[in-house]
Amino acid sequence: MYDSRNQIPQKYKWNLSEIYSSRDAFESDFADVDKEIRSFALSGERISKSADGLLNVLSEYNRIYQKLRKLSEYAERNSDVDLSDNGFQSLAAKVRMLYNDLGSASFFVVPAVCRIPEKKLVSWYKEQPGLLSFKRVIDRYRRYRKHLLSDSEEKLFADLSNALQSHETIRSIFANADLQFGFVKDDDGKRVPLNDSTYVPLVMSQNRNVRRNAFRSLYKTYDQYGNTFANLLNGFVREMTTIAEVRHFENSLEASVFEDEVPSSIYHNLVQTVRDHMSPLFEYYELKRKLLNVEKLHLYDVYTPLIASQSRQYEYDEAVDIVLDALKIYGPDYISVLEKGLRKDGWVDVYPTKGKRGGAYSAGCYETKPYILLNFSGTFDNISTLAHEAGHSMHSYFSRKNNDSQNSEYTIFVAEVASTVNELLLSHHLLKTSKDKSIKMNILDELMSTYKSTLYRQTMFAEFEEFIHHTVETGEPLTKEILSDEYYQLNLRYFGKDVVCDRQIQYEWMRVPHFYYNFYVYKYATCICAASAIVKKIESEGQPYIKKYLDFLSCGNSKSPLDSLLVAEIDMRKPDVILAGIDDFRNAVSQFKDLLEEC
Ligand SMILES: [Zn+2]
Repeated sequence: MYDSRNQIPQKYKWNLSEIYSSRDAFESDFADVDKEIRSFALSGERISKSADGLLNVLSEYNRIYQKLRKLSEYAERNSDVDLSDNGFQSLAAKVRMLYNDLGSASFFVVPAVCRIPEKKLVSWYKEQPGLLSFKRVIDRYRRYRKHLLSDSEEKLFADLSNALQSHETIRSIFANADLQFGFVKDDDGKRVPLNDSTYVPLVMSQNRNVRRNAFRSLYKTYDQYGNTFANLLNGFVREMTTIAEVRHFENSLEASVFEDEVPSSIYHNLVQTVRDHMSPLFEYYELKRKLLNVEKLHLYDVYTPLIASQSRQYEYDEAVDIVLDALKIYGPDYISVLEKGLRKDGWVDVYPTKGKRGGAYSAGCYETKPYILLNFSGTFDNISTLAHEAGHSMHSYFSRKNNDSQNSEYTIFVAEVASTVNELLLSHHLLKTSKDKSIKMNILDELMSTYKSTLYRQTMFAEFEEFIHHTVETGEPLTKEILSDEYYQLNLRYFGKDVVCDRQIQYEWMRVPHFYYNFYVYKYATCICAASAIVKKIESEGQPYIKKYLDFLSCGNSKSPLDSLLVAEIDMRKPDVILAGIDDFRNAVSQFKDLLEEC
């Protein structure tokens, strides 16, 4: 590995000088945007006066927003490669403040667009055809017609927005900085401090004593602070339910799925279909019990990998070869762009160095490359991560290439589809082409674990979320007892009668930040199922379907998320999409069993 960034050849680093060639160029754009935001705040009058006025305001907002995105890319990407560089850190913080300023300066836009009478708008489209390129934006804004408040109330909401939503920050600081979980012994018998991040490798240990101690110690501490966590969650949910009520939504679930532009039936379709198909999950746990060679599987056993990960190391260029080979079914349009991006065009920042942000992500904006941050250390997992992030970046590439900037950002509801499709294609491809049985078992182990956590666990979280919101909506406060009881019941259902459901798990809700994301997690589950259904079609129908899939990637935000998925023949309202995910999981379990029998 490299000691410093200077030693890394340029072709393994992203090229950020293409965003701004110098710090001066950045500063000059920053000063412009700052000025433009202030004058934008004064443009309110024009918006509802004429077709030209509306077009001007929407174009101006978009122009400032795109410039801000570019400033943000420069500051955030530079700061992520060296988090100890205070210069870029403070630049990034300054850009984030500009986002807030733009939010406050533009609060009038949505209400004003909503107030334009329908007839007038129709005539404006004829009078000023330029407005048609903003039709989808206007339609999205006008969906809020029934949920708007008076101007002064909207202003109050905008001003208060920074002060609201502090519950998760408090929860995370309390759990990660203030709480003391004591010490436990690791695999080498060494005493190590226990906390939320050391817990994960400890509970995956092959040594049962290590994982059991970590599990019991962690929840013993959480148990003592249950009332504090319950009050935080109660406060957050009350905030969400109050906002939903004030904005005339039936409940907070309806308010949240409204933002995603999907009906709540999608949520319930997911939960019901998963509930009706728990057997592959129980089979998986039985497999786990056998391989771990324990009489009864406990909850502290479920994170231990079935197969030790491969020891083989891969070079980055080799990983790129493997990913391109697995994705070649997409055809030359996709592959040539991706290959250039990964090898020559400076999309990727490959290697870890001191101070670089951990993990991996895909970023970028309309005017930049779809950058990818990796911390490539040569493990087999890293190849899967590369395929995943490449999926995001190619989705962004096609979305940006085929749409005006105002329609180029795909929504959260579809965000994890393209990345997961690539991950699944890679797994399936390696299962088909690999001759080595241990590699195959390793891939299947990872695949099963992905379905367990992304499909089943997130659906369990979704059920819990609906319960907590519903409880508050019926006027009952969330207490430690109510929360822990419900959480325990859900675990009983999702682990089945053959797993020992250790009582301590009832406190796990205290350490899950996602319950503060307001109905976010169900999208992980729907995305992996949409991806499984797409992969099934890619593999069975080949080229004619690939064309439809690439059309889906090109939708950006020019269509609603449900309509863009329909372009790829995926109808999220139907149980078959969820069943495609469950089927792929079931297949992985049975393939794993077959390989095991051959051993
Ligand atoms: Zn992702």
